[in-house]
Amino acid sequence: MSRVYNFAAGPAVLPLECLQEAQADLVDFQGSGMSIMEMSHRGKEYDAIHNEARENLKKLMGLGDDYEVLFIQGGASLQFAMIPMNWLGKDQTADYINAGTWGASAVKQAQMIGNVNIAANTQKEIPTRMPSLDEMKWTPGAVYSHITTNETIAGTEMKEIPETGSPLIADMSSDILSCPRDYNRFVMVYAGAQKNLGPAGAAVVAIRKDFAEKGSATPPTMLRYQTHIDKNSLYNTPPCFTIYMICLTTRWLLKQGLETVYANNAAKAKKIYDVIDSTAFYRGTAQKDCRSNMNITFRLPTEELEALFVKQAAENGMKQLKGHRSVGGIRASIYNAFPMAGVDSLVAFMKEFEKRNG
Ligand SMILES: *Cc1c(COP(=O)(O)O)cnc(C)c1O
Repeated sequence: MSRVYNFAAGPAVLPLECLQEAQADLVDFQGSGMSIMEMSHRGKEYDAIHNEARENLKKLMGLGDDYEVLFIQGGASLQFAMIPMNWLGKDQTADYINAGTWGASAVKQAQMIGNVNIAANTQKEIPTRMPSLDEMKWTPGAVYSHITTNETIAGTEMKEIPETGSPLIADMSSDILSCPRDYNRFVMVYAGAQKNLGPAGAAVVAIRKDFAEKGSATPPTMLRYQTHIDKNSLYNTPPCFTIYMICLTTRWLLKQGLETVYANNAAKAKKIYDVIDSTAFYRGTAQKDCRSNMNITFRLPTEELEALFVKQAAENGMKQLKGHRSVGGIRASIYNAFPMAGVDSLVAFMKEFEKRNG
């Protein structure tokens, strides 16, 4: 077997033991004679997986019965539209932070539905950063406020969650369950599964039931949160295999223990930032106090060297290090499942590459 170190931003690396378990169960799921991909989403085998995935997520996030965890297709991008469709009524205002590409995408969808106040905007700034708490301007009586806790492309992360004065919603697609957070402070948290939770195919949505109830009844049935709550995310056929993989990944997270996962994530990021800070050859693109522990973005002295870096890293078993096409440079995405050995390998390569080219 020849696994590489996969630094992809999403879909991203999954825990090897989860892949191996899926492989072992692929053609005959625990003696059923069928693959999980071939069986009814209303049958008892799938039902157990569906409910375990949901319960594991609630446990990991520390949420009680006032919350529901949903699986909704369409990724995080559909959530950008569903949120204002469900809550942003006529004559109401929603607050948004725009600190990068994803925040801007959420804003754009909300503006198609209703009135949006941009509480702070750092999207175009270089070095990239999150706005500070005192530059955020919240609207009294806003129907909700929306933040993006980790800007995946810029490589910035919100270190402190703001007090917004209105119900708080967060896009945590790229940093959910990667660091300590009080999930009970949010009326809704959502994440495309393909970064920290599993493969592509669903957004995980943790939602407070009383807030969902306040939603408008006008969106079509599939686009209403209340539908998915009432039907336990089984209103229509769910992405069964994706949810099965989320079940395995959340089991793995519970087995590791979140404290271990959080400590490993901080240690992995520190190793790479330490190399960046030890030389002028590498230049981090995020302001230091906003650096993401999930997506580490940096530049080399020239674009030619960046291309050579990506090429030679790949030849050495480290793949997908090219930065997002909109910003260039290098991006090392090191989500929960990314192994420490892969970070050590990158760190050694960075030092050696600088020696040869610096
Ligand atoms: C990847 C990402 C998205 C988009 O997710 P899709 O599931 O592809 O729609 C949205 N927000 C953030 C923060 C992301 O990292």
